[in-house]
Amino acid sequence: MLRILGLCVWGVRTVWHTESDGVFFCPDCGGDRSYRRRTGRRLLTVMGLPVAPRGQAGPVVECSACHGRHGTEALEHPTSARLTAMLRDAAHAVALAVLVAGGPDSRRARRAAAEAVREAGFPDCTEEELRALLAVRCPEGTPADDCGNRLAEQLRDALGPLAGHLALQGCEHLLVQGARIALSDGPYLPAERETLAAVGRCLMMSPEHTDSTLEAVARTPS
Ligand SMILES: [Zn+2]
Repeated sequence: MLRILGLCVWGVRTVWHTESDGVFFCPDCGGDRSYRRRTGRRLLTVMGLPVAPRGQAGPVVECSACHGRHGTEALEHPTSARLTAMLRDAAHAVALAVLVAGGPDSRRARRAAAEAVREAGFPDCTEEELRALLAVRCPEGTPADDCGNRLAEQLRDALGPLAGHLALQGCEHLLVQGARIALSDGPYLPAERETLAAVGRCLMMSPEHTDSTLEAVARTPS
């Protein structure tokens, strides 16, 4: 902007246009906020009047609360509400997979799984409900491998999208929940150990970290 005797002679002004809106997690004010996705046209101005175009600006994502502007990659981060729902679904998928690996007939494991799922955010989950869910997903007569593959796929679907957004403690927490279900009726079985290793892989934890976490849970009385 050029000033002569305190007057703006020429400058560049951006005229913003809103293309869409929604809710995102604002990294500036740290919460779920509404946003406007905006693009702009830069205009050369003389004495405050637009005289010529000077290209495009944006697109940007503008927070409605703090008015901070971010690149559109800010929309890739899940909102807190979405993250909570993803965590809940992940805990549910882990509980089911561990239960199948250990044999769903164990009453103690079913009880521990239902408790983990309730804690994760499905307060009405019961052992019966888990048993019914398993019967639907792995009907009687399904070869064990098919059943395991199906649950492994569900595990990947539930945990994969979380992996990039969860702090290490969050990943460990999910793994520990699964480990407690596996240990509720005795030491880890090979199939349980394998399932828990798959949980670690889906969460992008190193095999060493997964192993040390699982061993630490096994040493800790519940
Ligand atoms: Zn904000």
